[in-house]
Amino acid sequence: MSPAVDQYGVFGHPVGHSFSPFIHGVFARDTGQQMSYRAYDVEPQELGSRVQEFFGGGGRGLNITLPHKVAAVEVVQELTARAAHAAAVNTLVLQDDNIILGDNTDGAGLVRDLCDNLGLVVTQRRLLILGAGGATRGVLAPLLGLQPAIAVIADLGVTQGVGFAYVGDTPFDLIINATSASLSGDIPPIPAGAVGPETVCYDLAYGRSAMAFVRWAQQSGCALAVQGLGMLVEQAAESFRLWRGVRPATVEVLAALKQRIGSV
Ligand code: NDP
Repeated sequence: MSPAVDQYGVFGHPVGHSFSPFIHGVFARDTGQQMSYRAYDVEPQELGSRVQEFFGGGGRGLNITLPHKVAAVEVVQELTARAAHAAAVNTLVLQDDNIILGDNTDGAGLVRDLCDNLGLVVTQRRLLILGAGGATRGVLAPLLGLQPAIAVIADLGVTQGVGFAYVGDTPFDLIINATSASLSGDIPPIPAGAVGPETVCYDLAYGRSAMAFVRWAQQSGCALAVQGLGMLVEQAAESFRLWRGVRPATVEVLAALKQRIGSV
């Protein structure tokens, strides 16, 4: 027997802090969709079985958050091109043919926040991305799709980017902090000259307890310092559109969340 309303949710571990139930609850109400959305704490070793159980029980779609985004690639039957490129998924959709599709809406969410909400131009601008973890994998291709003049990816480890010491002293137009440093109050070792009076600094982390990078950027004299709450709301809107075929408005839920968690 199918459940009374279509069921959605987010799988993470831990997941109690997730704002996704609030965001999707507002989206559902605003668009008049009959659906439920819950947070599920799922241990890494039970990801595959819990996904099968969720969809077997009539679930329609899932968001996937830390630490499951990479492992979830293995539990879906089909991947979108952008999820395959990122080798990470944050959205599962049960299609009409009962195939579970994996997608990644993080990059689209970031691009939408940068270009539409903040009105920034990335094309032909100098872009610096800090960190080379899972989030960078999701956002890199969509950002490069905007055709920046130059894109430098800096990481402490040896990856496909450069070490922080090689970032150089010419100011960037946009610096995206995709490290998790702010979560522990740290600031990546960015050369001071990378920030100028025209530079916009964007931290993927958000909330009162993750202000280190934003404060550092403001003290360095940047034009604007923002946290990634807009990306969170926009990636959720893109997931919602995939599930329900309607794109919810995001302005009010973003403003409400900003106030609630003291984000900039
Ligand atoms: P990962 O753990 O996969 O990657 C973290 C990256 O940060 C690694 O490259 C790591 O380098 C680097 N790093 C950690 N600490 C430092 C430091 N002190 N100095 C320099 N580099 C450091 O995390 P994710 O990529 O999944 O997430 C990154 C951030 O993005 C988090 O803050 C997360 O909350 C946020 N995020 C926000 C989203 C949104 O919607 N706004 C969506 C997804 C993520 P190394 O490997 O060398 O240690």
